[in-house]
Amino acid sequence: MKTLASYLAGRWHRADRDLQTLVNPASEEPLALVSSTGADFAGALDWARKLGGPALRELTFAQRGEILKALSKRLREHRDELLLLSRMNNGTTASDGSFDIDGGGGALAVYGNLGLALGDRRHLVDGVGDQLAKTEAFWSQHVQVPRPGVAVHVNAFNFPAWGFAEKFACAFLAGVPVITKPATATALTAHRLVEIALESGLLPPGSLQMVVGSTGDLLDRLGVHDVFAFTGSAATALHLRSKKNLLAASVRVNVEADSLNAAVLAPDAAAGSPLFELFVKDVAREMTQKAGQKCTAVRRIVVPGAVEGAVTEALAARLAKCAPGDPVDEAVRMGPLATEDQLRDALDGIAELLATADLVFGSGVRADGLGAPAGKGYFVGPTLLRSEVPLEKSPVHHREVFGPVATVLPYDGSARQAAEIVALAEGTLVTSAYSNDADWVAAFLASGGAYTGRLYLGSEGSEGVGSGACFPQSLHGGPGRAGGGEELGGLRGLTPYLQRVAVQGSRPHVDAVTGARP
Ligand code: NAP
Repeated sequence: MKTLASYLAGRWHRADRDLQTLVNPASEEPLALVSSTGADFAGALDWARKLGGPALRELTFAQRGEILKALSKRLREHRDELLLLSRMNNGTTASDGSFDIDGGGGALAVYGNLGLALGDRRHLVDGVGDQLAKTEAFWSQHVQVPRPGVAVHVNAFNFPAWGFAEKFACAFLAGVPVITKPATATALTAHRLVEIALESGLLPPGSLQMVVGSTGDLLDRLGVHDVFAFTGSAATALHLRSKKNLLAASVRVNVEADSLNAAVLAPDAAAGSPLFELFVKDVAREMTQKAGQKCTAVRRIVVPGAVEGAVTEALAARLAKCAPGDPVDEAVRMGPLATEDQLRDALDGIAELLATADLVFGSGVRADGLGAPAGKGYFVGPTLLRSEVPLEKSPVHHREVFGPVATVLPYDGSARQAAEIVALAEGTLVTSAYSNDADWVAAFLASGGAYTGRLYLGSEGSEGVGSGACFPQSLHGGPGRAGGGEELGGLRGLTPYLQRVAVQGSRPHVDAVTGARP
C-alpha cells in the first residue's frame, strides 16, 4: 500500500513509523498509509523563510496571479483523477466532490485574476492618504507589504481541495510561502493536489510545502512575521491558538471553526408559496450535501409556529429521497461520513440533542448504505429533530453534529425573536433569511447581523445557489465560536499575510515612494 510522503525543504519525506491507515468510508477498505515521523520542520521553515519568501516577494502581484491561474488550469486537467480520490477517501458523490475540487480551482482562478488586476506592483496601497499638517508637506499614506515569514495552514477533513486552495491562493498572492497540512484521515485528495502543483514547475522553490500526518514541533517553531491559519473544531482551535510561542510573538492566527448555522423563514412565506418551496429545497440540500459535513451546513431551522407542520412535512418528503449509500453508484445522492470517529461523534451528538428535542424524521442510528457491504461503512441517514424550547440555551445551540442532522425551532414570526434564537449559538459562519419583505430582513439584520459572518438572502427572483457555498469574493468566517476569523472576501483575504505600514512624509515624496496617485 502506498505511503503518502510530506514535501519539506525540497524533498519528499516518507516515514516508516507511526503509520496511520486511510480508508474508504463506504467500504472501510484501506487506501494508503500516512505519517510524518522524522520530518525536519526546522529545515522546512528555514527553506520557506530563506528561499520561498524572497522568491515570492520578487514577483509582482500580476506574476503571482498568473501562476495561480495556471495552477487552476492544471487542477482542471486532473479533475477526474481528483474526483475519484475524493470519492474513495471522502466518500463524496460526484456533485459533492465537485463542490470541493471545482470550488478549489475557482478560488485559485479568482485570486489569479485579482493579482492580474493589481498589475506590476509589490505592495497594496491602502485607502487614500491624509494630510497631517497645515499643508501637504506632511502627509500619511497606508500601504500593505508582504510579511517576511511563513504561513502554516492546517485544514479540516471535509474540504481537502478547497481548504488547501482558498488558503494557499491568499497567502501566495500576498507573497508569503505556505506549509500546508491536510487532515490526516482524508489526506489523499490534498496530497495529490499538492503533488500536481509541485510537478507543474510553476511554483518558485520554497513557496509550497506539505506535511501529511502530525505537525510535530512545527507550530512551536512559529515566530514573529509568521501566520497560522486553522480550520477545524473549536476545541482544537482553542488548544492550538493558546500556544505560548504564538501568543508571545504575536503570530497572526486566523481560525475557522464550528458553526451552528441557522436558516430562518420569515412570516411572509405562506405554506406552499414559491418562497416556502425555495426554503424547503435549500434547507434539504444544505442538510444533506456532503452528508452534512460542511461548516456552512444548516443545523437550525427557524420557522414561524404557524407553518412549522408544513415545513416539517415538506422537508421529510425531500429527505426521504436521500438515503445514504456508496457513491460508486451514481444514483446515490448522499455518501457516508468520512471516518469512524465522525460517525461515532455524530451519533453521540444526536443523542445529546435528543435531551431537549424530539426526532421527527430519521432513525438517529447508523444505517447500512445502499450498495455498501452490510455492516460496513460510516452511514447515517438524514435526521430531523424538533425542539419545544427554542429560546433555551440547549445543546441544539451549541452541539455541532457534523452530519445530515438539523433541528426545527418554531418562533413567533418577529425579526427580534428570530435574531434572539440565532444569537444563542454565539457566532455562526452563515445565517440565511427567506423573505420577500425587505423591512423584515432589515430588522433581522439590525438585531441579528452581528452574530454571523455572512447573511444569505432567499427571495423570489434570487438566483443564489444556497447558503452553503463560499465564494472567494465574499467573506468566509464568523464571530465567536465560529472562530472569529476572516478568510476570502476578495483582497480582504490577503490581510493576515500583509503588514500595514503608515508611510509619513511630504506628499509628493510619499506618493512617489508608495505609488499612490492623487
Ligand atoms: P479537527 O479534529 O479539529 O482537526 C482539524 C485539523 O487540525 C486537522 O488537520 C487535524 O489534523 C489538526 N489537528 C488536530 N489536533 C492538532 C494538534 N494538536 N496540532 C496540530 N494540528 C492538529 O477538525 P476536523 O474533524 O478535521 O474537522 C471538522 C470540524 O471542522 C468541524 O467542527 C467543522 O465545523 C470545522 N470546519 C470549519 C470550517 C470553517 O471554515 N469554519 C470548514 C470546515 C470544517 P489530524 O487530522 O492529523 O488530526
